[in-house]
Amino acid sequence: SIQALDHYYGQGRLQKQVLFDIQLDIQAGEIVIMTGPSGSGKTTLLSLIGSLRSAQSGSLKVLGQELCGASKQQMVTLRQNIGYIFQAHNLLKFLTAKQNVQMSLELHALSAAETHARAEAMLAAVGLEERSSDYPENLSGGQKQRVAIARALVSQPKLVLADEPTAALDKQAGRNVVELMQRLAKEQGCTILLVTHDNRILDIADRIMQMEDGRLTANAQRTQTTPAA
Ligand code: ATP
Repeated sequence: SIQALDHYYGQGRLQKQVLFDIQLDIQAGEIVIMTGPSGSGKTTLLSLIGSLRSAQSGSLKVLGQELCGASKQQMVTLRQNIGYIFQAHNLLKFLTAKQNVQMSLELHALSAAETHARAEAMLAAVGLEERSSDYPENLSGGQKQRVAIARALVSQPKLVLADEPTAALDKQAGRNVVELMQRLAKEQGCTILLVTHDNRILDIADRIMQMEDGRLTANAQRTQTTPAA
């Protein structure tokens, strides 16, 4: 839940406002896509929601934690419940696919056997069971992005934030990657907020938001045939 959120970069006369009065409510389990021109503030908003940057004013509640005025420790704790998928997959090149996935479980106090089992199951879920011992340099762009998805989801986060996850991929690989995210999110019941310029993937969203010059200009519910619960 976000209320009246503003954000500024810089100090004094060089200060520049980049987010203006953002209001937004995202329901648990929703897949929300945020689009908008370059420089409109999408990455800034994502990094505030992801507790990667301090919120300055207004109210920003993520998974029940108020982030405006939160301590560093509260921010770090919240990050453990969030999965991050970025455009540049950020895999560690000196670790294998499986070791990269296992990294996300380090803070979760699991046995070594459980950590291995979960990482292997997740790599299988993204179709990479055969590649778990490969290093990133031996994987294709799409495969690396699938490892990044496995790494983001293996800890079963309640919220997944993805910034341009298909930007480096061709059409088919991009499609595969988002459909995989969609399927795994539904299975795990997590919420996804995805920033993209890629209009080929908008159809996976429950809701599409538009950012323009630091303002949310459209916050549309997609009409869809939801079976009565
Ligand atoms: P893109 O699609 O190109 O990634 P974006 O919509 O994600 O763009 P942001 O990266 O959030 O936009 O940037 C919003 C505005 O804030 C831009 O005007 C940018 O120049 C500015 N900005 C972003 N990061 C910083 C920073 N660390 N310091 C100062 N200004 C910044």
